[in-house]
Amino acid sequence: MNIYIDADACTGCELCLPSCPFNAIEMREDKAVILDNCTLCNACLDVCPVDAIHKVEEKVTAPHKPCVIEEYAGVWVFAEQRKGVLQTVTFELLGEGKKLAATLGEELCAVLLGDGIRKEAETLLYYDVDKVYSIDDPTLAVFQDDTYSACMAALARQFKPNIILGGATHIGRSFIPQVAVKLQTGLTADCTGLTIEDSSKHLMQTRPAFGGSIFATIATYHHRPQIATVRHKVMKPAKRQSERRGEIVQLPLPDEAKRCRTRFITSVEELEETVNLAEADIIVSGGRGLGDPKYFSLIQELAKTLGGAVGASRATVDAGWIPYSHQVGQTGKTVCPKLYIACGISGAVQHLVGMQSSDVIVAINKDPQAPIFKVASYGIVGDLHEVIPALIKRFSAR
Ligand SMILES: Cc1cc2nc3c(=O)[nH]c(=O)nc-3n(C[C@H](O)[C@H](O)[C@H](O)COP(=O)(O)OP(=O)(O)OC[C@H]3O[C@@H](n4cnc5c(N)ncnc54)[C@H](O)[C@@H]3O)c2cc1C
Repeated sequence: MNIYIDADACTGCELCLPSCPFNAIEMREDKAVILDNCTLCNACLDVCPVDAIHKVEEKVTAPHKPCVIEEYAGVWVFAEQRKGVLQTVTFELLGEGKKLAATLGEELCAVLLGDGIRKEAETLLYYDVDKVYSIDDPTLAVFQDDTYSACMAALARQFKPNIILGGATHIGRSFIPQVAVKLQTGLTADCTGLTIEDSSKHLMQTRPAFGGSIFATIATYHHRPQIATVRHKVMKPAKRQSERRGEIVQLPLPDEAKRCRTRFITSVEELEETVNLAEADIIVSGGRGLGDPKYFSLIQELAKTLGGAVGASRATVDAGWIPYSHQVGQTGKTVCPKLYIACGISGAVQHLVGMQSSDVIVAINKDPQAPIFKVASYGIVGDLHEVIPALIKRFSAR
């Protein structure tokens, strides 16, 4: 929808100017023109005595072609690699993808994009895939939304997969929505559960909604592929098989991936994060109960003693006590360590969704009613300023 003024008809009477509550009309060379801040409120439409103001319909997208669902088959996993290292989320998706493919009686395929990635393509063959679609080209050396989404969309148009899964990582969250738009299909972001509906064979995609207080199950009934991004550390990873299986299908860079609107200049690694939170086996997290940012030193010391990483609640991140990269929870990282120690964290649902699948949870909180105790394997009711130094002392002694 757009509003425009027919310059030939406009007499320059200026009657329309005061009609606009947003000052989005001005005079240029004695003709009224609509400015970019027009909100389409329509207030100007009826004031023009010569009927020079018009509303036009704009087609912003091409019309949907009906989708022949039966033409689509196969479960695809986007095999995320960074600097030539396959990310653990890839193996989690392959584990989940295998179950979906088996239920549907369809192929499991991996899609690998990058530069000099033959070794990684071969590694994927140990994970029970039928095919690895690989585009190995210098253009893909560095992740860029435009090039990656163009490749994935071109492959999907050519081979018509039923389902595409990607990690809900920075990379997946960034380019998979573009793939969905290019293919004019649905996307469910940030899923924590995937199943196949018995009767219809559609993919049921479950994800937390309304701040994690409910779980919504979403289906793409009329379009294909069904696309979902999946949270890291929620699904069990596929096991490496002793034998390789399947084939590598090497494909050229599609033409549409040769045009990129952005130019990669450099990447800067965050030096502070010595241990990758999402991969850590032990995490010690601090919350607002620390009372002051300086007491994050206690958390750091306990984490160091245990060889773990430092996590944080959003309250402390929002307060500027610690960088965002440490935040655990719905709007932070999802973690699944062997041991998670929550210190001075109340256990809001948005924090819990990011850590409750940890193997062992220890909560330290002075309030015995704190909700964190509901998910804790072990609870210590007490002042963290006394409990943490005591733990550091005992663990150091061992
Ligand atoms: C859309 C949305 C997304 C969100 N995403 C996230 C997210 O990703 N991660 C996240 O963490 N939160 C998230 N939140 C915020 C969340 O709702 C909570 O506000 C936040 O987790 C609270 O942080 P906290 O537990 O550190 O602080 P508080 O809730 O203030 O809890 C502090 C706890 O410390 C205890 N305590 C105080 N002093 C001591 C002491 N001396 N010794 C021991 N215990 C003590 C208290 O009893 C209390 O239980 C989100 C909220 C919204 C609305």
